[in-house]
Amino acid sequence: MSKILTFTRKERDCLVLIGENASSDFPLRLVEVANRLGIKAPTALNLVKRLVMKGLLLREHGMLALSSKGKEEYAKIIESHRVIETMMTRSGASLEDACRLSCYLDFIIDENTVDSIFNQLGKPESCPHGKKIKV
Ligand SMILES: [Zn+2]
Repeated sequence: MSKILTFTRKERDCLVLIGENASSDFPLRLVEVANRLGIKAPTALNLVKRLVMKGLLLREHGMLALSSKGKEEYAKIIESHRVIETMMTRSGASLEDACRLSCYLDFIIDENTVDSIFNQLGKPESCPHGKKIKV
């Protein structure tokens, strides 16, 4: 039941960036990923190649999109992120700190732990940003 896929923080950020952009009419390109993540183009290329190799990212005509597996992982990360920041703000952390710190944990924490925190919190509908936790 433990998490099989492991990510680095940069891979997580890249996945989230592309996932957040999915509803836009303009798919992200490598240059934009590099800019938005604050890394150099060759570093972004390596990052993208790793995510393609892991089966999470599709790269067609220079445009980047999540694969169906990538979409699943993205959804898991976002749900974990929202559960963790809800837990933190309820424990007295500021929303800003909770959100920032949650980015270090949301891609590492396993689903069972997220579920038990979620249940412990009384199955909240939304995160402190007001976004739905169960998408
Ligand atoms: Zn957040």
